[in-house]
Amino acid sequence: MISALLPTYARADLAFERGDGAWLTSTRGERYLDFGGGIAVASLGYSHPHLVEALTGQAGKLWHTSNLFQIPEGERLARRLCEASFADYVFFTNSGAEALELAIKVARRYQYVTGHAERFQIIGFEGAFHGRTLATLAAAGTPKYLEGFGPKAEGFDQVPYGDLEELKRAIGPQTGAILIEPIQGEGGVRMLPPAFLKALRRLCDEHKLLLVLDEVQTGMGRTGKLFAYQWAGIEPDVMAIAKGIGGGFPLGALLTTEEAGRGMTVGTHGTTYGGNPLAMAVGNAVLDIVLAPGFIEHVAQTGLYARQRLAELKDRHPAVIEEIRGEGLMIGLKTRVPNTEFVAAARAEKLLTIPAGENVVRLLPPLIVTDEEVNEAIDRLSRACADLEQSIPQRGAAE
Ligand SMILES: *Cc1c(COP(=O)(O)O)cnc(C)c1O
Repeated sequence: MISALLPTYARADLAFERGDGAWLTSTRGERYLDFGGGIAVASLGYSHPHLVEALTGQAGKLWHTSNLFQIPEGERLARRLCEASFADYVFFTNSGAEALELAIKVARRYQYVTGHAERFQIIGFEGAFHGRTLATLAAAGTPKYLEGFGPKAEGFDQVPYGDLEELKRAIGPQTGAILIEPIQGEGGVRMLPPAFLKALRRLCDEHKLLLVLDEVQTGMGRTGKLFAYQWAGIEPDVMAIAKGIGGGFPLGALLTTEEAGRGMTVGTHGTTYGGNPLAMAVGNAVLDIVLAPGFIEHVAQTGLYARQRLAELKDRHPAVIEEIRGEGLMIGLKTRVPNTEFVAAARAEKLLTIPAGENVVRLLPPLIVTDEEVNEAIDRLSRACADLEQSIPQRGAAE
């Protein structure tokens, strides 16, 4: 059948009808173990009773009012996010890219209102992903995503990820902020050298730059801390989150300190849908669970267990798996076979995974995943590796 959807995705021939916990049931009635989580979104798995109740309860009352009125659940969610983080203020969006767009605006506006309108330039990092809007594409600078879309938005530079010396050289009189993912997600679960974020914080303070973090993928407990910056013992000035905070409902947020957000006065930004009552009900329900005692410790422990089991798998299948990366339940397998083939082999074993840059396969299971489900995933990956090993000599012969 010819699809009427704009063909920007190469979709698998697979659709799902329902989900529960870490499991999805396809329209053909087959059960899949989901270690992709809809790209790090289904943080509490599928059909979590607390989330279903929050959404359906709100759906029967009120969906939308606009930001011309008070939204009490939004006030509450913002206050809770501030209490759990470095931030003083929150602005709700519908997606990660929108939160990043606002992060860029906040940073530029801060420099403007403090008398440095010339400091509009933002330094980012090669391999980054910040979304698909024109500004976030320019911020990441990935040529294949920019090609053919007209002049690249001005004011963005990139240096190699984790390269402090290159970064220092790139800072000039027009630099106003540094934008970074604490772990690159789409880029391939790329980790920063230890103490890099600390050095970045110092550099920002020294040059009066804002430190802007993109925690759209790493945030909301994914790495075994509520936010990945907490591993580094630093605080950013501005941060974008999304994905996990909505548990599958479209929700993002921009968090800022009072100082960094001081240019954002009445009329400087807006959104029709951002922070609407449905999203706020779900966001609060996600926080109820993620902030409950022991939840994030569970993520850290399960992540550690998963990475231990994956290290064994790598030892048994060195021709398929080259390296295990990640923190908490944000895990990357660098594969020696094309990562898309690995993803397909895992899918044939009814395990969902997600490809990323540097020929990495991402495992981003729901944060509620159990050790038994990790064991089940390892069994399936093990069978996928065995399948892939069989095809390796043939691949050699075909070349
Ligand atoms: C997914 C992602 C985005 C973009 O989020 P959208 O909701 O798709 O706009 C931005 N940054 C990071 C790190 C992401 O993983």
